[in-house]
Amino acid sequence: MIDKYNRNIDYMRMSITDLCNLRCRYCMPDGMRVQKLPMAEILTYEELIEVAKAAVECGITKFKITGGEPLARKNCPGFIKMLKEISGVQQVTMTTNGAALEENLPMLMDAGLDAVNISLDTLKADVFSEITGRNCHAEVIRGIEAAIDSGVKVKLNTVLQRGVNDGEWNDIILFAKKYNIDVRFIEIMPIGYGRGMEVVSNDFLRKELLKIYPDMKDDTSIHGNGPARYVKIPGFNCSIGFISAIHGKFCGECNRIRLTATGKLKPCLCYGETIDVKKIVRDNDRTEKQAIYKRHQRLVGVIHEAILSKPKEHCFENITKITEMKKMVEIGG
Ligand code: SAM
Ligand code: SF4
Repeated sequence: MIDKYNRNIDYMRMSITDLCNLRCRYCMPDGMRVQKLPMAEILTYEELIEVAKAAVECGITKFKITGGEPLARKNCPGFIKMLKEISGVQQVTMTTNGAALEENLPMLMDAGLDAVNISLDTLKADVFSEITGRNCHAEVIRGIEAAIDSGVKVKLNTVLQRGVNDGEWNDIILFAKKYNIDVRFIEIMPIGYGRGMEVVSNDFLRKELLKIYPDMKDDTSIHGNGPARYVKIPGFNCSIGFISAIHGKFCGECNRIRLTATGKLKPCLCYGETIDVKKIVRDNDRTEKQAIYKRHQRLVGVIHEAILSKPKEHCFENITKITEMKKMVEIGG
């Protein structure tokens, strides 16, 4: 569906849980009071499927499953299989921290997962523990290797933090080169615990990259659904991407809406405005057939509304205008 600013919105980021097995400092730091929501607050898989069917009717064809950590929710692969079976769904991908990926891969492949983005901020086990508060770097690396071996399309996501892992960008690029997979550097966004954190600018990173790889060129081929800009380095079978929310606005090409695990449609990451779908998917006040039909119509209506209310652009560059107060773990990135 085309929004008010002539953007084609065909992609939904669907969070299925606000829980996580890691504690990344910029997202859900160790020691943060985690308020475990009752399961009743979280949409069931059946409810998410109802929302997805309505979203498809509004022109959404691609879904990204996120969290929290999506693999922390029981039977995530079973849910992905249900999504893939909806007529009109062209692509289902997932973003994961990779810690539980290896054991889930056979089920994910069986479900028909189209691609996976894996977060990898460091190649060092001790730095990994410092960033994530957990000691499972080896599991993440095994998850990445298992995903590559399985043949599913893999991309890495890296968030650089000044004084923590900002010296590792070239090692991570060489790791990606070794496995022929794309890596994207994501600038820390001022959402949740990212607010106030120093951003390692992708402009700076590009300049540093040019010093080592003076022949690198912009890569304009399509790499996925996201806002990353890519470069290609001669001799590499992979591309390097930059997701520059702070130092490069990509809102003119925004193609997405978000759904939180508690059933809130979010037109833009930057603003707190949401539209509730939970009360709609839980409205059973009719015979079953009538109720399903009525809910579907209402869901289509609110998804339209969410798409039409997408703002022109985010305001991450002006922190005082950001109205989103939720943590990234509650939104899904
Ligand atoms: N748990 C999964 C993971 O880590 O990939 C999925 C959810 S996580 C919120 C999605 C992505 O958001 C991760 O790549 C993570 O590094 C990134 N992220 C979290 N907080 C961020 C922030 N404040 N700024 C930029 N990226 C952030
Ligand atoms: Fe968990 Fe992902 Fe947030 Fe890290 S970034 S705490 S892995 S949800």
